[in-house]
Amino acid sequence: MSKSSAERSAELRDLLSEYSYAYHVNDDPVVSDAVYDSLFGELKQLEAEHPELVTPDSPTQRVGNALKDGFKKVEHSTRMLSLNDVFDRGEVEAWVQRMDKLLPSTKHEFFADIKMDGLACALMYQDGLFVQAVTRGDSFIGEDVTNNVRTIKNVPLRLRKTKGFERFLQGRTEIRGEIVMLKKDFAALNERQEKEGKPAFANPRNLAAGTIRQLDPQLVAARPLTFIAYDLYRDDAGEIPTHMHAYETISALGIRRNSEASIFDNLDGVMKFVDEWDEKRHDLPFNTDGLVIKVNNRAQYAELGVVGKQPRGAVAYKYAAEQATTVVKDIVLSIGRTGAATPVAVFDPVVVAGTTVQHASLHNADEIKRKDIRVGDTVVIFKAGDIIPQVQSVLKELRPKSAKTFLMESELQRQYPELEFERPEGEAVYRVKGATGSLLLKQALAHFASKGALDIDTLGEKNVAALVDAGLVKDIADIYQLTKDQLLALERFADISAQKLIDAIADKKQPPLSRFVYGLGIRHVGAQTAIDLANKFRKLDNIGVAKLDELKAVEGVGDIVADSVYLWFDEEDNQALLAKFRGFGVWPQDVKSVGGKLSGQNFVVTGTLETMGRDVAAEKIRALGGTFQSSLGKDTTYLVVGKNVGASKLAKAEKYGTKQLTEDEFLEML
Ligand code: NAD
Repeated sequence: MSKSSAERSAELRDLLSEYSYAYHVNDDPVVSDAVYDSLFGELKQLEAEHPELVTPDSPTQRVGNALKDGFKKVEHSTRMLSLNDVFDRGEVEAWVQRMDKLLPSTKHEFFADIKMDGLACALMYQDGLFVQAVTRGDSFIGEDVTNNVRTIKNVPLRLRKTKGFERFLQGRTEIRGEIVMLKKDFAALNERQEKEGKPAFANPRNLAAGTIRQLDPQLVAARPLTFIAYDLYRDDAGEIPTHMHAYETISALGIRRNSEASIFDNLDGVMKFVDEWDEKRHDLPFNTDGLVIKVNNRAQYAELGVVGKQPRGAVAYKYAAEQATTVVKDIVLSIGRTGAATPVAVFDPVVVAGTTVQHASLHNADEIKRKDIRVGDTVVIFKAGDIIPQVQSVLKELRPKSAKTFLMESELQRQYPELEFERPEGEAVYRVKGATGSLLLKQALAHFASKGALDIDTLGEKNVAALVDAGLVKDIADIYQLTKDQLLALERFADISAQKLIDAIADKKQPPLSRFVYGLGIRHVGAQTAIDLANKFRKLDNIGVAKLDELKAVEGVGDIVADSVYLWFDEEDNQALLAKFRGFGVWPQDVKSVGGKLSGQNFVVTGTLETMGRDVAAEKIRALGGTFQSSLGKDTTYLVVGKNVGASKLAKAEKYGTKQLTEDEFLEML
C-alpha cells in the first residue's frame, strides 16, 4: 500500500502547487490553511529525510506564486519573505539553538507580535509622501497596487511629523504590513450582500487579497480594508537598531500597528505570551494565524540571514489546528454490545486540536460510501464538538492505485468469519444475526466466568442464562451486585446454591490481571495475549492508556491485536464498565514489578506540562513502577497540575484529598 517517498513527495508537490495557485493567484483557496499546512509539513519532513528529493520548484522553496497580469511588476528593495512555522515550545527552543550555533553572540532578546492573516504589502514613502504600494508577489518582484491601496482609509498619504523622528520624512521610507479586512467590516459587508440577495464571501483574508488585486480601484474603495504595519526599512539600516524601535517609529509616523507587540529577554516570557494569546486572539478585531517571534536586534537578525524563503532570525508560531491530514492504514470493524458492527478507521498518529488522534469512527457503510474512504487514502481529520475525531473528506488526488473500495459485507466476513450479520430493513447498521443484546451478554458473561478467565464456580451457562433472562444483570459487572434474595426469587436457586454462587463471585473480586483482561472478551485477545499484556503493563490502567505503538511493541501483539485492544479501551461504554467494576471494589491485582521508587503510586496529569508531553510523563511514571491513570479516582495518589487546568479537575482532587504536585515538584520526584 505504501508509496515510495519519491512518489509521495512528487504528488504532494503537485497538489500543493495547485492549492497555492488557487490561494495566491486566484485568491480562492480550495482547502483550509490547516489542510495546506498539514500536507506542507509532510512534504517538508520527507525532504528533510531525503534531501535528494528537493526540487527547485518545490512549494517549500518558494514564496507566493505567479504574478497576476494587469499590474506593473516592481522589484523589491529587500526580499519579502515567508516565515518558518513552529508548533510548540520544543520547536521554539530548537530554533534558538540553531541560531546560537550559527551566531553564538545572538542576543536572547525576542520580539513577539500577533501574526495577522491578510496579504502582505509594502508602502513606499519618498520624502514623507506616499508614492507606491507593492504586493509581496514571488518575494523578489511584486505587483504595483498603488491606486488600490490609495483607497484604504488608514494608509496616510503623507507621513506624520513627530519630534525626534523627522529624518524619516526625508529620503525613502518603506513600511511593510498586512492588509486585512477587520471582522466587523467583513460581517457588515456580508450582511449587505445578503440583503442584496448576493452570495456571502467565505473568508476575510481571501476577500482582502482578491480586492487589492482588482483592476478597478472604484471597486476596491467600496470594500473596507485596513493596513496594519509590521516592519520598516531605510536605506541606512543602522537607523533602526531593533524591531521594537521600528514599531515605535511606525507609530510616530502615524501608521497603525499592533500595540500588543512585546519584547522578552528569555524564552519563558515568549511562551507566556504564546499561552496568553491562545485564547485572547479570538477577541482581536482581525483574524490571526499565530504569532511572529523575531530576534529583536536587527543587525543580528540580518546577519543570521535567509535559508530558502525564510529568515533564520524569525519564526511563525502556529496554534493547534482544528484540522490535519493523515493516511488511513486500516478500517476495522468493532462489534458493540448490541451486536452492531461499526467501521473504524485507523491512521498514522496525527495531532488535531492539540491531541494525538489515531482512529475515528466511520459510523456505517453508507457513510464510507458517501465520503468514499479507502484504506491508503489521505484524509482530512477534524474534531467534532472539539472532542470526537471525524474524517471530514478524502484528498482523492493522493489516492494510491492500490487503494481498495471498502466492501462492508466481505469485510464482516473476513474480520468475523465465525459470525453472521444482517442489515435490518431501513437501517444503516449491520448487526450480528439473531443477536439481541441479551444473547451477546450471555456469551460475554459466560466467557468472563469461564475457567480460563475469572473461573467463577457454579456460574455456568445455565445460571448465566437465568440471571440475564431475569434481568438481574445488564453487564458483566452487575454480578458483583447480586444479592442472595434476588437469587432465591429465581426457580433455579435454593438456599445453598444461592449462597455458593454469591460466595464464588465475591471470591473473585481481585482476580489476576491476565485473567481479568482475558475475561473482558476483547476481540483477538486470547489467554496468552492477556498474559503478555499483563506482564508488560503490570496494571490495568497502564494497558488502558497505552498508545498504539506501545501495544504493538509487546511481544506477540501484532497490528490487529493492538488496534483491537486500543479501540476497546477507548470506547466510552467500556470505560464506563471499568469504572463500574472499580465502584464495586472489583479490580485485578497488579503484576508485581521488580520495584521502582514510584511503585504503588497512581498519577494523573492534568493541563499542559512545559517540559514534556503527557505521553512522556506516562512513560517516565511507568518506568519507575508507578501507574499513569487517565482520570482522577479515589485511588489516585498524585495529581500533577500543568498549565490551563479546568476548575472541575481541581475540585475533584480536593474532594478526594488527592495530593497536588506542581510540574517542578513532579520533576523532582522523577
Ligand atoms: P507565512 O505564514 O509564511 O508568513 C509570512 C507572512 O506573515 C509575511 O509575509 C507577512 O505578510 C505576514 N505577517 C502577518 N503579521 C505579521 C507580523 N506581525 N510580523 C511579520 N509578518 C507578519 O505566509 P505565506 O508565505 O504567505 O504563506 C503561508 C500561508 O499561506 C500559510 O498559512 C498557508 O496555510 C497559507 N496557504 C494556504 C493555502 C490554501 O490552499 N489554503 C495555499 C497556500 C498557502
